[in-house]
Amino acid sequence: MLGSGLLQGLAVTAKNLVGSFHDPARLTTVEYPEQRTKLPEAYRNFPFLVSENATDPMGTLRCVACQICEKECPPQCIYIEKSKDKKPDATGRPQLYPTVFDIDTSVCMSCQICVEVCPFDAIKMDQVFEIATTDRFTALLLDREQLAKPNDYYHTIHPTEAAEVDARLAAERKAAAEKAAAAAAKAAAAKPAAVAGLGEAGAPGSSTPATTKPPAA
Ligand code: SF4
Ligand code: SF4
Repeated sequence: MLGSGLLQGLAVTAKNLVGSFHDPARLTTVEYPEQRTKLPEAYRNFPFLVSENATDPMGTLRCVACQICEKECPPQCIYIEKSKDKKPDATGRPQLYPTVFDIDTSVCMSCQICVEVCPFDAIKMDQVFEIATTDRFTALLLDREQLAKPNDYYHTIHPTEAAEVDARLAAERKAAAEKAAAAAAKAAAAKPAAVAGLGEAGAPGSSTPATTKPPAA
């Protein structure tokens, strides 16, 4: 029927209008900034760097300055300088680290490619959107001190994803620790055998020749 769509639309509007007086779920207007709706977990805008420890964010960044994200970023808005020295990461392994890590958020297009390519789960997408400023140049260029945020923060904005990352990293660290322990045990077992082999050298029936010959008469 001609105009039925219009009538259906008006019915929905009337239903919400009347419902908004007694049903809070129908209150679609949010008095921002006094009121805020909870952002969906999948919401993202600009990247941040994950640190393991909130009390020492610069010392516990997961980033090892491999520069993969810098190369893969489509608009080239990441700038990294890697350190000359190494320092222990969260697992105690010596790693390089970024001495400079800048992201120009005025250029970033929130594509998340930097997150996808990072092999260390060191960079993730943030949900902070209130970054309006009158200075479009330096104020939107975020350095590593501004980008670093603790893993606990990552859990508050993307709990499901952060739990998966933690479980994967824990499994990788456990596997690495077991591999190192197995290698150490193998080396420890090989050492006495080598010493015993030296002790038997030159003994009657041994196929191993003596290491020193008696002096000629
Ligand atoms: S989200 Fe995309 S554009 Fe922004 S820094 Fe990462 S790779 Fe670059
Ligand atoms: S954030 Fe990830 S990909 Fe980028 S430099 Fe650091 S470790 Fe490499």
